[in-house]
Amino acid sequence: MSSKIVAIVGRPNVGKSTLFNRITESRKAIVDEVSGVTRDRNYGKGQWNGVDFSIIDTGGYVVNSDDVFEAEINKQVHLAIDEADVILFLVDVEAGITDLDDAVAAILRRTKKEVILAVNKVDNNQRIIDAQEFYSLGLGELYCISSMTGSGTGDLLDHLVASFPVKEETEEETELPHLSVVGRPNVGKSSFINALIGIERNIVTDVAGTTRDSIHTHYNKFGHDFMIVDTAGLRKKGKVHEDLEFYSVLRSVRTIENSDVCLLMIDATRGVEAQDMNIFNLIVKNKKGVVVLVNKWDLIDKNTNSTKKLAAEIKERLAPFNDVPIIFISAKTKQRVHRALETAIEVFENRKKRIKTSELNEILLEAVEAYPPPSVKGKFIKIKYVTQLPSPTPAFALFANLPQYIKDPYRRYIENQIRDHFDFTGVPIQVFFRQK
Ligand code: GDP
Ligand code: GDP
Repeated sequence: MSSKIVAIVGRPNVGKSTLFNRITESRKAIVDEVSGVTRDRNYGKGQWNGVDFSIIDTGGYVVNSDDVFEAEINKQVHLAIDEADVILFLVDVEAGITDLDDAVAAILRRTKKEVILAVNKVDNNQRIIDAQEFYSLGLGELYCISSMTGSGTGDLLDHLVASFPVKEETEEETELPHLSVVGRPNVGKSSFINALIGIERNIVTDVAGTTRDSIHTHYNKFGHDFMIVDTAGLRKKGKVHEDLEFYSVLRSVRTIENSDVCLLMIDATRGVEAQDMNIFNLIVKNKKGVVVLVNKWDLIDKNTNSTKKLAAEIKERLAPFNDVPIIFISAKTKQRVHRALETAIEVFENRKKRIKTSELNEILLEAVEAYPPPSVKGKFIKIKYVTQLPSPTPAFALFANLPQYIKDPYRRYIENQIRDHFDFTGVPIQVFFRQK
């Protein structure tokens, strides 16, 4: 269900972003087309041998200049160790072993996480020989690659996906809704979880994940069986580098990846802020369910229409995907905490929903007839047939004679029709047009 996280670490100029681009390139079109969210520079999706994973170019978060401080690199490496499943340590054969490489290797030799050493810029055979000196870093096997040409990257990726840790959940637990609470520091995530589940009393089992950061706990509360993702991360808050955006991005990525539905918490006294939007976009990009919780509602001086007004403002910010439940809660007074859980479970069910092909065609072909795609260069576009794809999250394919001429506004029209007739609240859905 969840995909693993790979972090690339290494000095500036060894080729981290070149490698990042190569690994994410094949997926770029898909990711962009689907979510309508611009791909960010440091976080992308990779796929190899049918295995999906997330990849983070940690170098993108530190000052990328030659006089970068060793302390800065150290921070980057420690954060990668905390947050990733596998660390890809990239070095540069042209430069040979530098002091910074030694310093990074010294940290990596002590971690229990999987570390893979790749020697970059091995563009020719002579350089394979030169690359051998990197064995002295004491990190075991090395992979000679050229990020520029792609040479050697296949072997590297074979090894990478084979090294992913195996999940330690029972089959039954894998099926349960995996919920998480995400949001900026101090919005009230820990308070909410305490209000919801109390202090550890309703734990069914405590499944330690494969990393010390990721603990998924099985709860039974209010008649629902569910897993809460990453409360450990919430508990250890404060000890870590909360100030760094790098940290909160990684934290959110990890949590979101492991969830089915994310409860995105915002602070009622502050409204939707840029970082809230970043997290929202990450959720959508990962095609996860989402419920917006506006917390600290007890602090708001309410008048009769403040709820409606704020909900409308939030929807405006979230557009175009704003078919999202918004719940005003107080973790402090426990107002609507139960409701938040109920809604998250509903969204989980929506995300698994399958619409019968006959029903889908009946509704959508009528909608197409009422408002056909505009003709292009005198050519009429005919949509013949619709079906829901057998993907794990809702996706629909409409078969047409000239799918390439159908523009985004029409795709949105179809998406809205689907949402109007079938309840997909809180769930990103995909609409594809394919050749009949
Ligand atoms: P980063 O600072 O680690 O992200 O490094 P970049 O990806 O920006 O690459 C630094 C420089 O190395 C750029 O000029 C790249 O074109 C070059 N480079 C990256 N990969 C290779 C490679 O495989 N071979 C060669 N010869 N140059 C490379
Ligand atoms: P986290 O960093 O997101 O886990 O936030 P915490 O749960 O640690 O809460 C941060 C601060 O906000 C604490 O001082 C909480 O007591 C306070 N807080 C959390 N929820 C509420 C709420 O609903 N109302 C009020 N008034 N304060 C809250």
